Amino acid sequence: RLPVVVIVGRPNVGKSTLFNRLVGRRVAVVEDTPGITRDRLYAETEWNGRRFQVVDTGGIVFSEEDPLSEQIRVQANVALEEADIVLFLTDARDGMNPDDMDLARELRPVKKPVLVVVNKADNPERDSFANEFYSVGLGEVYPVSGLHGRGVADLMDVVVDLL
Ligand code: GDP
Ligand code: MG
Repeated sequence: RLPVVVIVGRPNVGKSTLFNRLVGRRVAVVEDTPGITRDRLYAETEWNGRRFQVVDTGGIVFSEEDPLSEQIRVQANVALEEADIVLFLTDARDGMNPDDMDLARELRPVKKPVLVVVNKADNPERDSFANEFYSVGLGEVYPVSGLHGRGVADLMDVVVDLL
């Protein structure tokens, strides 16, 4: 079985954008607004010769019936069960959000590497906004731009070292 890297995060932080970048093609649909239920997406990829699976949990959160808090718990459970590494995606533009805190609380007991990835850090000025995410209590934070690729190579070096 290939190692599994699961991307979790509240809607619109850029999970599908990062997933597509890691996979190297447009598999996941990128949405400006959430609201569509879709299946979880799996794809195989590799970095520095290490093969692994990437999972975009986005489809899980886009259900209109379930409260977001319930969806966050479901995401965390998927991460817990399937992942070898969890990428906890947040948004440097929006900054810390109560839903990020909820998800962080669910992820803290997870006995697997959880990397706090601060997306939409499109330029060096945005990196400073990443620092507030140290307060989620999950260690190091990794600023990236899934859209432009900034920081993604450094993140993936860390990921494959942990696989
Ligand atoms: P998801 O709901 O977490 O899967 O988020 P999406 O990947 O669908 O992205 C939500 C929105 O954020 C879209 O409009 C993306 O173009 C935008 N987005 C995603 N990544 C970045 C990024 O690194 N920088 C910026 N500026 N926008 C981004
Ligand atoms: Mg998505």
